[in-house]
Amino acid sequence: SSSTPPSSWTPPSSANHPLLLITHDGSGAATGFVEADAEHPHLNVHDLGVTRGDGIFETYSIGRGHVQALDAHLERFARSARMLDLPQPDLGVWRDAVLAIGQRLADHEEAWVRTILTRGVEGHDMLTGWAQGRPSPDYRRERTEGLRIALLDRGLRSDVAQTSPWLLAGAKTLSYAVNRAAVREAQRRGADDVVFVSSDGFLLEGPNSTVVLRRGSTLSTPPFGILPGTTQGDLFAAAPEWGLKAVMEPLTPDDLHAAEAAWIVSSVRHVTPIRAVDGVERPIDASLSAAWNGYLHARLS
Ligand code: PLP
Repeated sequence: SSSTPPSSWTPPSSANHPLLLITHDGSGAATGFVEADAEHPHLNVHDLGVTRGDGIFETYSIGRGHVQALDAHLERFARSARMLDLPQPDLGVWRDAVLAIGQRLADHEEAWVRTILTRGVEGHDMLTGWAQGRPSPDYRRERTEGLRIALLDRGLRSDVAQTSPWLLAGAKTLSYAVNRAAVREAQRRGADDVVFVSSDGFLLEGPNSTVVLRRGSTLSTPPFGILPGTTQGDLFAAAPEWGLKAVMEPLTPDDLHAAEAAWIVSSVRHVTPIRAVDGVERPIDASLSAAWNGYLHARLS
């Protein structure tokens, strides 16, 4: 075998999905990371992240190599770890790994990186962690034409985070099977995505997005029972640029129906207008959607 690749050589597809395995010591402290081939298996079948969904994750947007809302994501990663009683992730190590993945995907207009931390292999006192990236799918259509959403009962009260913290409402855990099942139910109902409603009648969030309404010059988003969104956070911080003010307040399905414009927003897919709710068409604000998507894409931090 020759060490010089033939002229027809193209990089392996794994060049498009960099993977860094985070190394830990027995006390739960991260010691660094090593590069690995995403085409090969790395997980132990006894890993509690797989057998119990017992772990946490974050997904970050990368625009031309720049990891966006990095601090907000890392802080939320640490917050999720606290909520699951996991050892605090060493954010310096995770930050370096995420930035390294961003660098490797810098040729792509849009990409993403995910960090995952699990409770590790059952019976071993060793956490499992990795950071993995990919180029993003093309979301132009969703961002311009919008999504049809179904309102689905979450079956939990809006105050569940206070009354039953063990349900982990508002933590970004690996147990997203419920979120995926909800999207399949929405598809059965002819919709694309979901907005969850609490059992006491308040809008919560999407399975992987935050709800934002515009009524006049006021933006609003629900205040409780949900994961604090980094995308919504950045849009709310910049609201004055568009002459808008932003508030967190309890919202109901009636508020959604009556709003002049509504969106679900998230990392990677960014801003998608809601164009129908439970089969009822509703107006979209195409110009603000485009402005926000341009703004999010241009973020350098
Ligand atoms: N809510 C849930 C349940 C999520 O999983 C996510 C993340 O995708 C969001 C909201 C939106 O958060 P972000 O804007 O930080 O991606």
